[in-house]
Amino acid sequence: MSSAAGDDTRSSVEVAVPLPLPYTLHYRLPERLRPLAVAGSRVRVHVGKRRVVGIVVAVNDRAPEGIELRDVDDLLDQRPVLTPELLRLGAFIADYYMSPIGETLRALVPARLPASGAARVRLTKRGIFLPTTEGPERDLVEALIAGGDATVGDLAARFPGEAFSGTLERLESAGYVSMSSGEGSGARYRAAVELPEGDLDRQLEAAGRSAQGRAVVEYLAALGRPATLAELAGSIGASGAVVRRLVQRGVLRTFTQIERLSLDRHLMRDQPRAVPELVEAQASALARIAEAIDAAAYRAFLLHGVTGSGKTEVYLRAVEHALAAGRSAILLVPEISLVPALAAEARRRFGERLAILHSGLSEGERAQEWERARSGSARVVLGPRSAVFAPVERLGVVVVDEEHDAAFKQEHAPRYHARDLALMRAHEAGAVAILASATPSFETRHNAGLGKLIVCELPSRVGGGRLPEGILVDLRQEHIARKPGEVVLSQRLLDETRAALDGGEQVILLRNRRGYSPVLMCRACGDKLACDECGLPRTFHRRDGRLVCHYCGSARPVPKTCPRCGAAAYEPIGAGTERVEERVAEAFPGVPIDVLDRDAARRIGGAAAVLERFANGRTQILVGTQMVAKGHHFPNVGLTAVLAADSYLGFPDFRAVERTYSMLTQLAGRAGRGDRPGRVVIQTYFPEHYAIRAALAHDDAAFAEEEMRFRRVFHYPPYTRMVQLLVRGRDRAKTEARADQVSRALHANALAGEVRISGPAPAPLERLQGQWRFQLLLRSTSAARLRRLVGESVPATERADVLVDVDPQDLF
Ligand code: ADP
Ligand code: ZN
Repeated sequence: MSSAAGDDTRSSVEVAVPLPLPYTLHYRLPERLRPLAVAGSRVRVHVGKRRVVGIVVAVNDRAPEGIELRDVDDLLDQRPVLTPELLRLGAFIADYYMSPIGETLRALVPARLPASGAARVRLTKRGIFLPTTEGPERDLVEALIAGGDATVGDLAARFPGEAFSGTLERLESAGYVSMSSGEGSGARYRAAVELPEGDLDRQLEAAGRSAQGRAVVEYLAALGRPATLAELAGSIGASGAVVRRLVQRGVLRTFTQIERLSLDRHLMRDQPRAVPELVEAQASALARIAEAIDAAAYRAFLLHGVTGSGKTEVYLRAVEHALAAGRSAILLVPEISLVPALAAEARRRFGERLAILHSGLSEGERAQEWERARSGSARVVLGPRSAVFAPVERLGVVVVDEEHDAAFKQEHAPRYHARDLALMRAHEAGAVAILASATPSFETRHNAGLGKLIVCELPSRVGGGRLPEGILVDLRQEHIARKPGEVVLSQRLLDETRAALDGGEQVILLRNRRGYSPVLMCRACGDKLACDECGLPRTFHRRDGRLVCHYCGSARPVPKTCPRCGAAAYEPIGAGTERVEERVAEAFPGVPIDVLDRDAARRIGGAAAVLERFANGRTQILVGTQMVAKGHHFPNVGLTAVLAADSYLGFPDFRAVERTYSMLTQLAGRAGRGDRPGRVVIQTYFPEHYAIRAALAHDDAAFAEEEMRFRRVFHYPPYTRMVQLLVRGRDRAKTEARADQVSRALHANALAGEVRISGPAPAPLERLQGQWRFQLLLRSTSAARLRRLVGESVPATERADVLVDVDPQDLF
C-alpha cells in the first residue's frame, strides 16, 4: 500500500458493526492508527453511507485479496473496551445464540459509553514536575504541558510513527500521564492546584512579578483549600498559563481531582443488620466454596436453600473471600428492583470496591461504574443480567441469585441467558460460580444430577424461623354470585389481612397484572378496544386515563365514546394492581398502601422508593406483580397472598407449571421472616394441582419429581434442548407460506429420529405489532445438532424474517 517501506504490517482490521450482518467487515487502517489499533477497541467506520461505531475483532497484516478497502475513519479507544476474554465470550454468544456478531458485541459494552472522542491523556502531578525523561517521552510530556490534555488521536497525529504507542504506554506505566476513556466517562477529572503549607510572603515572592500570579496565590491562601483551574478562571480570571507557570516554579502543587457521581440514590436506606454468625449448613457451604476459590480453578455450586435460609449471607462471604484473595466478583440478580437492598448491604461490606451497573443509572453513572470496574478500582460488580459482561479482571466468583428466574434470559438479540454465560465466564476465568435458589430451574437441577454442579443444601430457615403456614382458598366456591373476571378478595383473605394488620404486621398481595383492568369493554356492543397492531385488548390504566397494549407498549387516551358503536359507557373486566389497590383501600380505610410493578418502577424514585417505604414500615400493605415476590427481606411481613395463583397455568408454555410453583414459593418466602411465623394465602381455581399443593406444603422434592417426570415423558428441556423459530410478516398468507417453506427445509435436512419438529403453528401471540407470527419448535438431545440444522435450513443471510431463539424461556 502507500507505506514508504511497502510495509503492510497491521494494515487492516476486521470490524464487527452494529448491523444484523452475520459477518465482520474489513477496513484499511490508516498509518497513523496502525500503532494504536487493538482488538476490542471501537472504531468509526462507514457502511454504505452510514457512519457507525464498530468494534475491532482482529488486526491483520494483510488485507483480503482483490477488494478495495475503505479506511477506518477514527479510533475511539486507546485501551480496548473489550478484553480478550470478553471478545471470546462475545464470539461464543454470536455462535451459540445464532446472533449477528456486531449486534452481539455491542450488547457487551454499555450503550453510549461511546460518548465521543478518544481516550484523553493528561499529565499527572509527577508528569508535570518531573520530566527527567528524554527523547520521545520528553517531547510528549512537553506537548502536554504546552497544550494541555489531548486525545490519543491528536497526539498520534502529532507524533507519527511506530514508536508512539510504546512511548505513551511507558509514560502511563511510569505514572507521568493518566488516561481516561473520553468525556463519556462519568467521573469527572479536573485539574486542581493547592498552595502548600508555608509562609505566604515567601510564596508571593516566589510567584514573581505577575499580578495575576500573585492574585492566584492570595486567593488560594484565603480559600484554605485546593481549587480547580476552572474555579480559578471563574473567580479571579486566572489563565491556565499563569497557573502552569506557578506550578513550574514550585509555588503551587497540582493534582487531578476526581469528582465521583454518588450512587447513594440507588441504595436502599435501611437499618444495617449485624453480620451474623453462620449456622452449620451455611458454614459448611461456605467452606466448600472458599476452598474452591483458593484452588483457583473452575467449580460451580448450586446453593439450594429454602427462602430465608441465609443464602445471601453465604455468597456475600464468598465474595469477601475472593476479594481477600485479590480477585474480583460479579453478583447477578434477576431484576433492578432487587438491586437497592443488596447494594446497600454490599456497600456496607465492600465499600468503594462495589460498582453497580444497570439501566436505571444515568449514562454518566453507568460509564463511571463501568470505568471503575475496568480500572480495577471497583472489584465487585452488582446488577441484572448484563452485569455478566462487567469488565473486571481476575474474576474469582460469579453469583447468580434466584437463578431460576426467566428474567436472566434476554428477550431481544442477542438472546443470551445470563446464568449460562455466568457459568461460561467462570469456566474461562478459572473462577467459582454460585447459583442460588429456593426453586432451582430444571436445567440446573438436571446439571446437579449429572454432577456438573456441587450441591450445597440449606434445608431450614436461619434463627429457627419456620416456613409460613399455607392457606388455600378455593375460588370455585368463592366464585358463585360474582361476575366473571371480577377481582376476588375472598372473605378468608380479608379476615387474615385484618388479623395481620391488627397484630402490627405488614401484608403483601400479589396480582400479576399491571394497570386497572386487563380489558375495558363497551357496555353497549361488547367491543374490547383492542390494539390495532396486536389484535388483543388493551389494558386500562386508570391512573393516567390511558389504554395500553401490554404486548407492544403503544398507548392512547380512553376514547370518549366507543369507536365501534358510539356508546359512552365502559365496563372494566378483570383486575390489575391498580384495581386491587382500590379494592383493598376500600376494605381497609386509612391503612397506607403502595403498589410495586413496572409502572411504579418507572415513576420518580421508582421501585427503590416503594421498597424503602415498605421496609421502614411507612406503608402497611404492598400490592404488586411478581416483583413483590422476589428475594426481598421484610422481617415484619406476616401475611402474603396471591389473588389468582393460576394466572400462568393456562399458558401454552411447558414452563407454566414451574413458573407458578416458583412464584408461589417465592411469595411464601416473603412471609414470616421475622420472629413470628407467617401465613400465605393462595387463591386458586385448581386446588388439586401439584404445583399448588407442593408450594403450600413446602415440598420441593415432591414437586421436582413430578415435574421432571412430565418433562421426561414429553421430551421437554432439560431432557432435550430447544430452539424456537418465529416466522414473522405483515401478510398472513405469505407468512404462513414462508413458515411452511422453512418447515420443509428443516424436514429435508433433519436426520430422522434426531430432531423433533413441532409446527408450524400460529404462535400463542399470533399477531404482534402488526406482524403475523408462526412458530416452529425444534427439540433434540444435542444443542449443536439443532444449531447446525437451523444453519443449514435457514442460512444466516436469509434470516431477516425468522427470529431464532436458542434455549427459549418464554414461548409466545
Ligand atoms: P435467603 O437469601 O436464603 O433468602 P438471607 O441470606 O436473606 O436468606 O437471610 C435471611 C435473613 O437471615 C437475613 O436477615 C440475614 O441477615 C439473616 N441471617 C442470615 N444468616 C444468619 C445466621 N447465620 N444467623 C442469623 N441470621 C442470619
Ligand atoms: Zn399492541
